[in-house]
Amino acid sequence: MRRLFLIFSVGLIVPSAFLVYLGVSSIRAESRLLEKQNAERFGATADALVDQLRLSIQGLGAPFAAAGVNRASYQRLEETFQSDGGFLIVLDQTDKAVHPYRDGAESSKPLPALPEALQRRLDAAEKLEFSQKDFAGAAQEYRALMDDAESLAWRASLLARLAGCWSKLKSWGKAEEAYRDLQARFAAEKNEQGAPWGLMAAIRLGDVYAASGRAELAIDHQLRLLQDLLGSRWPLGASDDRFYIQRVEDALGRAAPRMTPAQRARWDALSHDVHNHWNRAGRTQAWLKSEWPVRQAALRRVGRSDQPTLLWPDAKNALAFFVYPVFDPSSAQRVRTFIVGMRTDSLMTRWKNLLDPAATAGALRYTIHPEQAAEPQDLVRSVPHILPPLQLSVSSVGASVSNQFAARRRTIYIAMVGLAGVVIVVALLVTWIAIQREMEVAELKARFVSSMSHELKTPLSIIDLVSQKLKRGRYESPQDVQEFYGMLTEETTRLKGLIDDVLDFSRVMENRKPYLLSPLDLVPLITATVKRFHESPIAQGHPVLFETSLTVCIVQGNADALSRLLLNLMENAFKYSPPDRVDVRVRLAVEAQHVLLTVEDHGYGIAPEEQAHVFDRFYRARSASQDRPISGTGLGLAIVKNIVDAHHGSITLTSRLHEGSQFGVRLPR
Ligand code: ADP
Repeated sequence: MRRLFLIFSVGLIVPSAFLVYLGVSSIRAESRLLEKQNAERFGATADALVDQLRLSIQGLGAPFAAAGVNRASYQRLEETFQSDGGFLIVLDQTDKAVHPYRDGAESSKPLPALPEALQRRLDAAEKLEFSQKDFAGAAQEYRALMDDAESLAWRASLLARLAGCWSKLKSWGKAEEAYRDLQARFAAEKNEQGAPWGLMAAIRLGDVYAASGRAELAIDHQLRLLQDLLGSRWPLGASDDRFYIQRVEDALGRAAPRMTPAQRARWDALSHDVHNHWNRAGRTQAWLKSEWPVRQAALRRVGRSDQPTLLWPDAKNALAFFVYPVFDPSSAQRVRTFIVGMRTDSLMTRWKNLLDPAATAGALRYTIHPEQAAEPQDLVRSVPHILPPLQLSVSSVGASVSNQFAARRRTIYIAMVGLAGVVIVVALLVTWIAIQREMEVAELKARFVSSMSHELKTPLSIIDLVSQKLKRGRYESPQDVQEFYGMLTEETTRLKGLIDDVLDFSRVMENRKPYLLSPLDLVPLITATVKRFHESPIAQGHPVLFETSLTVCIVQGNADALSRLLLNLMENAFKYSPPDRVDVRVRLAVEAQHVLLTVEDHGYGIAPEEQAHVFDRFYRARSASQDRPISGTGLGLAIVKNIVDAHHGSITLTSRLHEGSQFGVRLPR
């Protein structure tokens, strides 16, 4: 039986252990796969984010790629960035600023030398103008020289001198005409100081208007001139810019009393612009002087001086600078470098709007930060086209959907394995207990068979012996015969009792005939049963005391069964008492809800550990095997218990070894 159980357990445990092993290893494999997938997903998303950043930074260059290389287009470009708080600087191929200011070094350039004859004539003309104050003569000479001079610069210069002479002569009409001519033909030509003749002519025209008494026209002209200067219409160096703006402002200041209200309003507005202009001028110049050389060196160091690059500021600055070199397609020479300042916060907002959707979709969190500040568990990518480098760190926001599913699967599997484990353990336990029981029963049955055959054999052999004696007439007196008959009756009664027990038992076990319960009075029933027992051979003349204060005690019961129950208890009380201590008492009392019937003896008693088992079928306690073995089948108390149950009652046992036992039967009233 135990071997069978062992085989059964092993057969159950080994495959379940194998199943658990399979499950655990598949969970492991799955989580490894998920980890790998996550890492790949992270990597892919981080790459995608960085790619978007790269495209966005490259996109900053789009307007420059399309821009022309002239002042008007710079102006337009600058306007697109100004709304973002940025400003534009343009450098030429020698890295000199051409916007918003031309670098000073290039600005003054002497005019080319004149052929000697012309130079002599020019000297003479200048003598006429400055020493002899013959302005008309000088004008004539200048005009003649202008026709003979070949260089455009000289022609422009001579035309300006001519216009100056007409001014000195107060020939306003001719002066105006000459200056307009200068403006129309030589606007882009520069004088020795590097100022364009277009600007010089415009300034002089204003003077002419004022001097000739056309005050309103003069003021309008100056206002327009100021606006042009603020708009960087002419490529001037920073100091020239300042000088000419100052000059026009002074002229306007002098003319202020004669301004119309509309002109005054415009003048006020322009003054405000002048203020901003100086601010910007200062800022641009400071940047070009202090920051740009450092940045340029850094760009060269990393070999990016020829590529569009975003210069990221240090923490205290709010402006980043995007550097965009432009190349001449034919010579592959750098012809311009655009540098635009942009607010970092608006750049960041733009990037956030760009990256957030992808990051949210991938259940990822990302940050853009300077190098080497990433959390250790983050995946880090460096952002291209930025100097000093920025990094993009990616970390997960929580489990992804597939991770959640995997976690749920894992939980379900673990719960199932746990449940299966519990079921297996319980099943094994229950089987073990059942086997244990069966083995006990088997043993008890074996004992029952042996004691039963013994029980049967003793009376049968007595009956056999006595009948032999009677048959052969081996008796001496009629008293002997009487005694023999008595013995025969006694042994037959014992046999009958035995058979009754067995029959009762089988009936009890198979629950064949349920007891029919009807109201009955316990007092006469017990009295009669006690009397009957007292008269039976088992009592051997010892009295049984029935103690009760009741005269009537009605219960729902079966008279036969209850009397059998009492007989069994009394018989045990006698059987398990030493012959010299036979003292059996039966009591009947009433409790709140119950009737209590007790049978008490002062016999061998039952050991505490055996008390729970005495009601089991076939069970016989150690009290049954005293120095003289006491016959029995182990069925009596099982039958008693069954009868009590059938009456919806309960039975209790109080016993002390060597002191006696007390069986209490409670029946509902
Ligand atoms: P048996 O045929 O052995 O008497 P029972 O079912 O009547 O079977 O009793 C079971 C066992 O309980 C007995 O073998 C005996 O050891 C013990 N027992 C029963 N009644 C008493 C008692 N009054 N005093 C001591 N032991 C008892």
